[in-house]
Amino acid sequence: TGMLAGPGTRMTGTVLEEGLRGAGGYLLNGNHERFMGNYDPRNERATRDIVSRSINSEIRAGRATPNGGVYIQMSHLGPDNVRQQFKGMVERCADSGFDLAGDLVEVVPTAHYMMGGLVFKKDCSTELPGLFAAGEDTGGVHGANRLGGNGVANSTVYGGIAGEEMAKWVTAQSLQECNMSEVLASIQAHEAPLHKPAGDIEMIRDALAECMWDDVGISRTKENLIQARAKLDELGMQLDQMGVGDIQRQYSITWQDWMNLRNLILVSKAVTEAALSRENSRGAHYRDDFPEPGPLESSYFTAVQLSDQGLKIENRPVQFTMIKPGETILVES
Ligand SMILES: Cc1cc2nc3c(=O)[nH]c(=O)nc-3n(C[C@H](O)[C@H](O)[C@H](O)COP(=O)(O)OP(=O)(O)OC[C@H]3O[C@@H](n4cnc5c(N)ncnc54)[C@H](O)[C@@H]3O)c2cc1C
Repeated sequence: TGMLAGPGTRMTGTVLEEGLRGAGGYLLNGNHERFMGNYDPRNERATRDIVSRSINSEIRAGRATPNGGVYIQMSHLGPDNVRQQFKGMVERCADSGFDLAGDLVEVVPTAHYMMGGLVFKKDCSTELPGLFAAGEDTGGVHGANRLGGNGVANSTVYGGIAGEEMAKWVTAQSLQECNMSEVLASIQAHEAPLHKPAGDIEMIRDALAECMWDDVGISRTKENLIQARAKLDELGMQLDQMGVGDIQRQYSITWQDWMNLRNLILVSKAVTEAALSRENSRGAHYRDDFPEPGPLESSYFTAVQLSDQGLKIENRPVQFTMIKPGETILVES
């Protein structure tokens, strides 16, 4: 969950992490009722996807807090203890005028990790020779649901591997001819917004966030996803018609924002198409119209590829090389 700080501040979304719930924090709805027990016997210690969906259900049922979220309560664990154990988060809340140790703080599910990403091999190489990938840019490491703490572990472990493998790869290469036609095409594409009059790209970015939150967010349906597909096409076209004007190029954040936004729309389209094609529910991907996970033995992951014909979706089988469905490496205590 993230802090819900009200309108007019950038603090909303700042993570108030699951360590709070793990330590015994309670989630209360707008009526000050503890609700997680209605959804999962593990209460606030249920997995992230279940907690997010449960909060979402409370909000949709009209039991939200004034700013549209739920409350986290830590005070029953002893304010001094909370201040000591969660110093950073207590201070972050205090900066926004909230008392995490002694009072209720409004929170809401936030997107703070991208579980999809580039298809890569164990040595961090990809299909494109010379392109190595690691960390949050890669997909598949966490399966359908990332466990808390494993984001940094992923970046650190694979970042190290990528560095070593890249060094080996580079020293084995000879200097290659540059494909100038590709370079020129890329320059032309990136310079395109400089030749068009400036428009309100912030408005498109806000509309993109709203579309992805409302229609491709915590709970998805075919109807919502098709609506999102149309909206994303519309936003892409609006951005293409809009530029940044003939501005100074050096260190131009506006130009950078335009390019980022184009990429964000493309990634959003990939997420939407993958969500539409997956007619089951696994971890953070939840379809209201297909709530069952489907058979584990025939698990697959969704690969999206961009071609001249648009985005191509492919289901690739999961290779169970270490543990098969139904097996466990956990030893009964
Ligand atoms: C609010 C929040 C809380 C989190 N809490 C936790 C947690 O408690 N535990 C946990 O394990 N994980 C947590 N995560 C996830 C974890 O922090 C990230 O997954 C991890 O830091 C990603 O590391 P990375 O090196 O892959 O990418 P990043 O840390 O994102 O690094 C990418 C770098 O590339 C730079 N960059 C981007 N584009 C360009 C470009 N064109 N040219 C040059 N540089 C570029 C960026 O500026 C950035 O420095 C959290 C994430 C968020 C957002």
